[in-house]
Amino acid sequence: MALNMFGLDLQIDHEKCTRCGICVRACPVGVLTLVENNDEK
Ligand code: SF4
Repeated sequence: MALNMFGLDLQIDHEKCTRCGICVRACPVGVLTLVENNDEK
């Protein structure tokens, strides 16, 4: 997944993301969410 926030191109590395939710809570405009992905194998 790629995001553009504050003029920065951001890429989530799903191998490293621990789904801690800190980025969701830190976003000042609430654009991020964490959702279950049942497609993961
Ligand atoms: S802050 Fe947590 S949920 Fe957000 S990208 Fe980093 S590891 Fe994943």
